[in-house]
Amino acid sequence: MKKYPFLDLGIVNRRYADELKRICCRIIDGGYYVGGNDVKQFESDLAEYTGSRHCVGVGNGLDALRLILRAYKELGVMKDHDEIIVPSNTYIATVLAITDNNLTPVLVEPDIKTYNLDESLIESRITSKTKAILTVHLYGLPSYSETMRCIARDHGLKIIEDNAQGIGGSVDGIRTGNMGDAAAFSFYPTKNLGALGDAGAVTTNDPELADAVRALGNYGSLRQYDNIYQGLNSRLDPIQAAMLSYKLKFIDEENEARRLLASVYNREITNPEVILPSEGKGAQHTYHQYVVRVADRQRFREYLDANGVGTAIHYPTAIHHQKCYSYMKGLSLPVAERIAAEVVSLPISPACTSVEDAASIADIINKFS
Ligand SMILES: *Cc1c(COP(=O)(O)O)cnc(C)c1O
Repeated sequence: MKKYPFLDLGIVNRRYADELKRICCRIIDGGYYVGGNDVKQFESDLAEYTGSRHCVGVGNGLDALRLILRAYKELGVMKDHDEIIVPSNTYIATVLAITDNNLTPVLVEPDIKTYNLDESLIESRITSKTKAILTVHLYGLPSYSETMRCIARDHGLKIIEDNAQGIGGSVDGIRTGNMGDAAAFSFYPTKNLGALGDAGAVTTNDPELADAVRALGNYGSLRQYDNIYQGLNSRLDPIQAAMLSYKLKFIDEENEARRLLASVYNREITNPEVILPSEGKGAQHTYHQYVVRVADRQRFREYLDANGVGTAIHYPTAIHHQKCYSYMKGLSLPVAERIAAEVVSLPISPACTSVEDAASIADIINKFS
């Protein structure tokens, strides 16, 4: 039986491996292992790619989010117990960044079609303590619009993007990472732009915020031994930075290949039991995940597994049902709960899945009943 793996990172990096090895050798021989020109180069490459003025490389995506919020606190924009609007359907890191900063997450339900923040629910949740909308481009679908921009402007809120999953996406020609006041990127190996280890970045057009993030990720210091903040250590390694600069050249091509696979699924999957993803208005989806919903998910997954198709779940437990947030368990968030109960991610990595594979997977799915 033919196997259709969900994701194999060794295969993902195989096409880049020769150059990645050359990069590693160059950096080993160069003797410079933290900071330096490779990091500066990647920061400038990513800023140029997104259209943002500033980019700061950091240790990972969670730190990128934590550092943005911490920087806003240090700059006096936010203080303890201020409220941050955030979708109830996201990866837990989005919310961890908020609570880690002693800020209060206000979980707002997603739209059941896009799985992203339901913008019609935002205004009713704004209070005098609300300081930001932390929007998440979940599964690669940009979550931003003129409506969101106006709400933020009218209420004096920052828009912060969790762009861990959305690199390369756009809305009306504006790239993710340059839609709001600041954006967090993750280059965790499974993301569309994946490092070979942990890595992240912050983009912004605000020079003060960029400096604060840079200082906070470097012991609170911009100049050695001159500490303005009680910072932490969260920096991008040059070895990851240089590999990312190389892989960034291919991200548009990779995202196009994901969109092509998605279009095959969209066209070929006709089983009424399976709800397909929606692209939303004016948004360019990058299909970090291709997520369908099936009422009888467990049986669907077992069936696919028995037919050689690997799947994953993003994510099986809603944030407010996680043990670490037991104080939220009384919240009524039925849309997030339904999504957590019904979503299944299909293979979408262009390195691991061909167009023919996607058609075969669709065929297998159509025979599920
Ligand atoms: C991966 C991810 C993060 C965290 O990034 P790390 O680099 O793993 O810390 C945050 N938010 C979302 C939506 C993610 O998918």
